[in-house]
Amino acid sequence: MIGAWTVDIKTNLVTASESLARLFGADPVKAMAGKLSLDVFVNAMHPDDRQRVIECISSSIQTGKQYDIDYRVFGADGKERSVLARGRNEVSDDGVTKKFTGVLIDITKRKKVEKAFLESEERLRFMAETMPQKVFTAKADGEVDYFNPQWMEFTGLSLEQIRDWGWTQFIHPDDVEKNVRLWKDSLATGQPYQIEHRFRRYDGVYHWHLSRAQPMRDQDGNVIRWFGSCTDIEEIRNTVQRRDELEAITLVLKEQRAQLVALNESKDEFISLASHQLRTPASAVKQFLSMVLEGYAGDLTPEQQALLTHAHESNQRQIAIVNDLLKVAQVDAGKIYLNRQPTDMVSLMNDVMVEQAAKFKQRQQDVSLIHKSKSHISMVDNERIRMVLENLIDNASKYTKTGRKIVVNISQTKAGVLISIQDEGVGIAQQDLDKLFRKFSRVDNPLSVKVGGSGLGLYWAKKIIDLHGGSIDVKSESNKGSTFSIRLPAR
Ligand code: ADP
Repeated sequence: MIGAWTVDIKTNLVTASESLARLFGADPVKAMAGKLSLDVFVNAMHPDDRQRVIECISSSIQTGKQYDIDYRVFGADGKERSVLARGRNEVSDDGVTKKFTGVLIDITKRKKVEKAFLESEERLRFMAETMPQKVFTAKADGEVDYFNPQWMEFTGLSLEQIRDWGWTQFIHPDDVEKNVRLWKDSLATGQPYQIEHRFRRYDGVYHWHLSRAQPMRDQDGNVIRWFGSCTDIEEIRNTVQRRDELEAITLVLKEQRAQLVALNESKDEFISLASHQLRTPASAVKQFLSMVLEGYAGDLTPEQQALLTHAHESNQRQIAIVNDLLKVAQVDAGKIYLNRQPTDMVSLMNDVMVEQAAKFKQRQQDVSLIHKSKSHISMVDNERIRMVLENLIDNASKYTKTGRKIVVNISQTKAGVLISIQDEGVGIAQQDLDKLFRKFSRVDNPLSVKVGGSGLGLYWAKKIIDLHGGSIDVKSESNKGSTFSIRLPAR
């Protein structure tokens, strides 16, 4: 709507077009006849704008200059509207201002659009200032004219320092040339811009960023602005790098593991093969020595008897070691199949003790067996558990000086049958306890050289107990003695 008006300065009566009168809710007939009071218009103005408008018009009357002012009015329907008034005074021939004329344009729609635009710009600015990324806008020629505050926070530089082309100062020296070239290429071709490059932080530390910019075009396809974002990818790059390094290390470790497994397998094969080859001649030597010692080849002098007895003992030890090696090779190859049956651990232990009684007697060791019930049944492969018990009781005896006590205890708990073998022997130092169950581990003690051994007995025993789903433990103190305990599943 556009309407014209005239104010008679003397009478303050207004002549206005019909549309203008309607806008202000005034009588159009009176308005067109020039009989409308100026108050009708003044009263329709928004109270907050009224003073400003009156001052503007008064100054225009005094200076004779045209005025332009926009203000709000309440229309006939009571709704707020925005208008733009333009006017000037008309001076009569005698030099006196008599009239004041002008036009008034309804700019409500335009104001609404402007407001919406400002609001959307405000929203965009808010978004740009709260997002973690650094964003910028640039003119078509590449001159950057907006940086969100994240840039200043990161670089420690002021907007003045980085605007236009000032941003090149925080790019890593090795990346600047490529960066400027790519940016200029995009500006020349209108193609999107993308680069990974390093930005110097306020403390001098460089961070990798991924930067992108997209052109905004007018209807004819000409680039009018650039919108860009830069994302800090330092952490991601580091993580990826670490992952790559880890993958490389894992690969090397896998290869090394495969080599070790292959080596271990060939070593196991060698041990198994060599032991088989050794056992036959060693057994033959045993037989012949026994025959000679038993007098098949005639009487022996006491010296011959002593020497051959030594040879016989060494041969016994050799056979024991070869047997241990074979047992271990078998268990390592996973070739053990348990033949489980209900077994009374009390009578099994008793058998083992009776078998070794001569040895205990010779060493003057008092070996006793204590058990809570008459029998304690466990589901085990009794052949193999017998060998485990033989080994444990043999160790208890051979690592205990003559005249000392050994106590075997058998009891039953919810967890299964418990067998403990307690000696008053040389004991084992705390730092050596976890080595005991490893292959070939012999721990030095005052008796170890004298009694000899392969360091395989406990390793094999643990494997067998594990296969049964049981456990083996040791408690020991140097010079006081040791207690080996095994737990085997109940029936
Ligand atoms: P070895 O054939 O050497 O006896 P074992 O595997 O049976 O092999 O035992 C490993 C090591 O554990 C032994 O060399 C010994 O030092 C220590 N050991 C085992 N049992 C006892 C024990 N009852 N008292 C002290 N030391 C023991």
